[in-house]
Amino acid sequence: MICAFDIGGSKIACGSVEGAGDVGACVRIETPTRDYQAFLSAVADQVPNDARALGLSIAGLVDPNQGSVRAANIPCLSGKPLRDDLTGLIGKPVFLTNDAKAFGLAEAHNGAGVGHSSVLALIPRTGIGGAIVLDGRILEGRTMVAGEWGHGPAGAMRTGKVLPRWTCGCGEIGCVDLFGGARGLERLHGFLAGEDKSSFDILDGWCAGESAALDTVDLYLDIVCGALANLVNTVDPSIIVLGGGLVSDTSLVSALHTEMWFRILAPKHAPRFAKASVGANSAIIGAAIFSRERLSLLKSEVNTA
Ligand SMILES: [Zn+2]
Repeated sequence: MICAFDIGGSKIACGSVEGAGDVGACVRIETPTRDYQAFLSAVADQVPNDARALGLSIAGLVDPNQGSVRAANIPCLSGKPLRDDLTGLIGKPVFLTNDAKAFGLAEAHNGAGVGHSSVLALIPRTGIGGAIVLDGRILEGRTMVAGEWGHGPAGAMRTGKVLPRWTCGCGEIGCVDLFGGARGLERLHGFLAGEDKSSFDILDGWCAGESAALDTVDLYLDIVCGALANLVNTVDPSIIVLGGGLVSDTSLVSALHTEMWFRILAPKHAPRFAKASVGANSAIIGAAIFSRERLSLLKSEVNTA
């Protein structure tokens, strides 16, 4: 059994995961964001004795070498050797991954991506996270940033619009991440129309044919699908699994697919879009799958040593 955690900026959810993804009773607690020792204790207190390992899904950038996480919403983790400290405290292996990769693994193994050898998972929330799962295994890359498609320069080639040079949390200017999530849509609408509206109101206006909302969503589609076409041409997935509240709007999902279709190299074989189906425990299940894989790797390394 893996003890898996979904760690967000306000709540920590924890559950015991058996086998293919059966989650036992979930516990939810407040996230200590300023006190590192309190954070360690909050996690350690939830771990049952019979857990083989801990899997943590955290919204942030994971450094696999340092075993640390840079999470904007949990500043106490900054620069701390989280993996080693937890291992020392609990005496069990600890595996860290980020929320997008956990989401991708859960959907590839237990959700909409089942049966697909090449799964692209996208989550337009605050930013626009992503994960690539090939033959059931997460593509991490050398530094675990594989799949972070949002952190490259945005462009608007179809509309030819000049984009604002906003600074991204990663330090670069004008990343797709700044435009692609729900907050990005709202920011873009503020930039174009000077209106402070929620993403849902903007999409309602778009469906109703309001001119300001039509302009905003048109530019949004141009920016997001330009970057997405690059990603699809590179990865060549057979399915794109979408999560996050923004994609509950079926008209937007349809418009994203159409715009992507026009801009990829092989439109006849365009990947289909599917909404995420694992549900609220996807980060916990994904963290457990990730940990199980890493445990197997550790065992095979020990056996061949
Ligand atoms: Zn960035």
